[in-house]
Amino acid sequence: MSQFWSPIVQTLTPYVPGEQPKLPGLIKLNTNENPYPPSPAVTAAMHTVTADSLRLYPDPDAAELKKTLAAYHDVQPDEIFVGNGSDEVLAFAFMALLKHSEPLLFADITYSFYPVYCKLFGIDYVEVPLNSAMEIDTADYEDRACGGIIFPNPNAPTGIPLPLAAIEALLIKQPNAVVVVDEAYVDFGGETAIPFINKYPNLLVIRTFSKSRSLAGLRVGFAMGHVKLIEALERVKNSFNSYPMDRLALAGAVASYGDEAYFQKTNAAIIDSREQMTAALEKLGFTVLPSAANFIFARHESYAAEQLAAGLRERAIIVRHFKHPRINQYLRISIGNPDECKMLIQTLTLLT
Ligand code: PMP
Repeated sequence: MSQFWSPIVQTLTPYVPGEQPKLPGLIKLNTNENPYPPSPAVTAAMHTVTADSLRLYPDPDAAELKKTLAAYHDVQPDEIFVGNGSDEVLAFAFMALLKHSEPLLFADITYSFYPVYCKLFGIDYVEVPLNSAMEIDTADYEDRACGGIIFPNPNAPTGIPLPLAAIEALLIKQPNAVVVVDEAYVDFGGETAIPFINKYPNLLVIRTFSKSRSLAGLRVGFAMGHVKLIEALERVKNSFNSYPMDRLALAGAVASYGDEAYFQKTNAAIIDSREQMTAALEKLGFTVLPSAANFIFARHESYAAEQLAAGLRERAIIVRHFKHPRINQYLRISIGNPDECKMLIQTLTLLT
């Protein structure tokens, strides 16, 4: 029945997320979820949502959540936009902020949703190669005509962070381009660009609750930037769906920010496991890129990544392997809990 499809739908090749296992007992290290549950305060707050309140629409402005985020991140509530996961917030940013007269710039190795959105919204783009150390070199973006720039910091799937000085130089060199910094993984060791928001009206910082806040299942993301950028996102949202966040997600998200000790404890545990896993993989002969994220990107000189991924899968461990020729020798492995990390290392010891 594809004769009913619009011409643009015929050309789309959507992003395919990693395998979502149906079988219990699989060790799932393929989509960078948090191995720990969210703070108990989150589920407690969600239980306080009454049946009667669910009869009513949620707050279209998400005022309580914006107030909570603003206080924590030291910005104003009208410098915040919230949505259903950062993928949705990114989509609104692509729709609302990118100039169509010039291409969007992003790295050749980066979050694979960026080219998908470009195709969906008809935005030209240029993929700028990572340097030989697999880093984003912001100098490559500074002097090019562009309709915007986007990168994760730390980058995905490499995990390599960018220093703030490089981001600031880019904001100064490209004052007419919106620079979107996708900080999905920043809490695991990156440096946030949020303090630049008051200084550079072309900066949009995007965050998610899916990684460091263990809430991938709740779908909460947000953006912070100059009020004029936020106004553009709100205009698009309000032309699309006035109520993007449901009452349960709003309650859970606010409660997550109320348990700072839990947030610090789980992040520290993940960082500690990452360092131990890096050392163990290096002992097995892997080269591991320096990660500031909740995953690592590693290659082995003697074993093909595709075969290793298949060997792990046969032994009930799922990791990510990419087909892109520049990175098809790498495995991307999410940091699990200590038992999962141990199983991964034991299994790779058998396979190498
Ligand atoms: N940005 C990056 C770099 C990511 O890796 C992801 C998760 N895959 C997202 C954004 C989207 O996260 P979510 O929609 O769960 O907030």
